[in-house]
Amino acid sequence: MSSCKEGEENQLKCLWVQGPIIVGAGPSGLAVSACLKNNGVPSVILERSDCIASLWQQRSYNRLKLHLPKQFCELPLLGFPENFPMYPTKHQFISYMESYAVHFSIEPRFKQVVQSAEFDHISGFWRVQTQDTEYISRWLIVATGENAEPVIPEIPGIEKFDGPVVHTSGYKSGLEFSNKRVLVVGCGNSGMEVSLDLCRHHASPHMVVRNTVHILPREMFGFSTFGIAMALLKWLPLRLVDKFLLLVATFTLGNTDKLGLRRPKTGPIELKNATGKTPVLDVGALSQIKSGKIKVMEGVREITRNGAKFLDGQEREFDSIILATGYKSNVPCWLKGSDFFTETGMPKTPFPNSWKGEKGLYTVGFTRRGLLGIASDAVKIARDLSDQWTTIKDCKNTCNSHIILQI
Ligand SMILES: Cc1cc2nc3c(=O)[nH]c(=O)nc-3n(C[C@H](O)[C@H](O)[C@H](O)COP(=O)(O)OP(=O)(O)OC[C@H]3O[C@@H](n4cnc5c(N)ncnc54)[C@H](O)[C@@H]3O)c2cc1C
Repeated sequence: MSSCKEGEENQLKCLWVQGPIIVGAGPSGLAVSACLKNNGVPSVILERSDCIASLWQQRSYNRLKLHLPKQFCELPLLGFPENFPMYPTKHQFISYMESYAVHFSIEPRFKQVVQSAEFDHISGFWRVQTQDTEYISRWLIVATGENAEPVIPEIPGIEKFDGPVVHTSGYKSGLEFSNKRVLVVGCGNSGMEVSLDLCRHHASPHMVVRNTVHILPREMFGFSTFGIAMALLKWLPLRLVDKFLLLVATFTLGNTDKLGLRRPKTGPIELKNATGKTPVLDVGALSQIKSGKIKVMEGVREITRNGAKFLDGQEREFDSIILATGYKSNVPCWLKGSDFFTETGMPKTPFPNSWKGEKGLYTVGFTRRGLLGIASDAVKIARDLSDQWTTIKDCKNTCNSHIILQI
């Protein structure tokens, strides 16, 4: 990377970047950087926070474990340590990613908030601006994730509530909610796990279930449900696999509709592929719902100063509210002049072709397939880019191009 000039108007430093600029130092950014390095292509990672994997280090709860078995969550080229359990804890996963970064000598530039990135048609380069620097490269890799910003829904009256209102990205443990009445809004994996954590800390969680939800046991017949589904999908049509999963789920968990957890009409995998909505893999919350320790509530009509009124007419008092309302991509806020992404910040081209845009634009980690999707994107991008890198290097040797010599 070499400096070109000091901008006079806005005092931005300007840096030519060797190889691609990667935005985001989560698992996606690390994986693609490692794969590139393995193919001899250097890169620069820009990360807004002060550490790698900030979602895991700074915005997740203490009891979080990988939802999927470890074999589906490894990054390319370096597996988990042998002694890791089937479902590594978040601390184990963080230590794995730290070792991964050290192993591949990946050193992101921290506290670099990408504010805009735009392709300059005149020069043929991407111009990526952070708060203090402009980075210029032939390639841009978007690795800011599907979970870049918390979704905060508009709930009538929430501004009147007297107690704390926290998104799950700010929730660490149920300890601080001991003996408190807590309204948990949302019933995805996070809502279920936070409610379970609250129970274990003697709080009284009420979980709002507004939409339909698929709950599956995390394991079936001693094997991971996800693993079984992946294996069956190799041989059977998707709808048949969904039918099988639902049959076993009903057999082992009972009829969840009776608990106020209505199942969608579309099967779990079909729904995931169509909308990205992940089925809940139960790790114990369901038994707490059955025993009445976690109360399931219908949608909220209104939040009051000290509680909530529900759609079914009930009214309850609460000390705190936790919003388990998910996350969204932030790409539309900073990627300018590209129509590769939708308004919600997801690639318009569906999986498996979502990793490559035009003019040197790439994306990793936008497949709605978690860490497995990341690994697949990273390998494809590195292969594609290393071909271009080799061509450019050959050209550099023969043409002695000035700009290429700079990078
Ligand atoms: C609670 C929870 C549990 C999960 N469990 C699993 C699981 O068990 N298995 C699984 O496969 N998946 C799981 N996931 C999905 C998980 O998000 C991904 O697998 C993984 O973290 C995504 O990695 P990523 O690098 O794409 O995104 P992230 O981990 O979100 O990393 C993106 C990085 O980009 C940075 N960034 C964002 N915007 C900017 C900007 N403008 N400028 C500079 N930097 C920026 C962020 O700070 C962040 O560090 C889970 C997600 C959550 C929320």
